[in-house]
Amino acid sequence: MTVKRGRNFLLTPGPTPIPERILNAMHRQPVDFAGPAFLETARSCLEDLRPIFKTAGPVFLYTASGHGAWEAALSNALSPGERILVPETGNFSAAWKDMAEALGLLAEDLPGDWRHAIDPARLEARLAEDRGQEIKAVLAVHTDTATSVTSDIPALRAAMDRAGHPALLMVDTVASLVTTDFRMDEWRVDVAVGASQKGLMLPPGLGFTAASEKALAAGQTATMPRRYWDWRERSSEHHYKWFCGTAPEHLVFGLREAIDMVLEEGLDAAFARHARLAEAVRRAVAVWCEAGALAFNALVPEERAQSVTTILTPEGFDGDKVRTTCRERFDVALGGGLGRLQGRAFRIGHMGDINEPMVLGALASVEAALEICGLPHGKGGVTAAIAYLAAEAP
Ligand SMILES: *Cc1c(COP(=O)(O)O)cnc(C)c1O
Repeated sequence: MTVKRGRNFLLTPGPTPIPERILNAMHRQPVDFAGPAFLETARSCLEDLRPIFKTAGPVFLYTASGHGAWEAALSNALSPGERILVPETGNFSAAWKDMAEALGLLAEDLPGDWRHAIDPARLEARLAEDRGQEIKAVLAVHTDTATSVTSDIPALRAAMDRAGHPALLMVDTVASLVTTDFRMDEWRVDVAVGASQKGLMLPPGLGFTAASEKALAAGQTATMPRRYWDWRERSSEHHYKWFCGTAPEHLVFGLREAIDMVLEEGLDAAFARHARLAEAVRRAVAVWCEAGALAFNALVPEERAQSVTTILTPEGFDGDKVRTTCRERFDVALGGGLGRLQGRAFRIGHMGDINEPMVLGALASVEAALEICGLPHGKGGVTAAIAYLAAEAP
């Protein structure tokens, strides 16, 4: 075994690197979860997550992955046998839809090609056809991490309004929270789903749902069996119910630190940082694509995500080779192709606690990996990224 020195570069689209400040905040003995100090920390986190979702309403916190928060959203606001509409954006919309079906919902796709954002006009048309208003919810993935496509949530809201349709708008913000502008109340999103290990720079293990008044009201009559996820239980005065059991104390300590860090940087500054790093990645990828073998998965430049970039590899080439070469040769971790992109793509995550030299180091490693793999690519991607970062002050 070769000994590896230096830093592992974690550019997977989740989990993302954890700042030392957060690691240090978590490095401590458990505490009495009923003591006033911990209760104050937990209460403050529940409160201070609101401005991160840009909502005045409640945010619920689960010891769970993003998948858990998906289930929380569906099981609280819907009843078995109800119809929902899932615009297809990639593997994450497909997986959320599968989960809905497993929970007894009648889920319908609004088909997509995995290379474009959700089309508001098609959403409007489908909802307008639903004269009986049987569709109870629209499930939209803001940034689909598999395809690196970001959809325009206000445009979807406007489409629903034009159709005069009362369905709940549920949005998966797992990969967009803190990386991309998201405004729950202003955009009249009914349920927002989030998780800890992406833009929030935390370990995996916390899932969030934020709920509008309309969603909370739906939750009063929804009949999907639930207990752990139940918003009503978690709204209790009794602190033991906030977490439905023992609080994940260390994740809460980390969350407190993460929220402080996000508020110190400022959400707008965090969005701008992500946009800038994303653009540096895209400048490099654009050069690599010039040789005709590689391509951006997201076809429309304005729809390309600020948090992850999916790069398609040519037919007959195992796309996972770029990823394994980066991992084995350079200790740089990338994402692989997911779902129908498996073996056909690799993904560079650029979210969370990362900066310019980390992105440049990763891009240089990817460019070297393309060379090693013999994949035809335009030379000088890293130079283009450097030129962009040098010319554009933050
Ligand atoms: C990562 C991710 C998820 C799943 O989160 P897990 O914690 O892995 O369950 C869901 N949706 C999106 C958009 C994601 O990026």
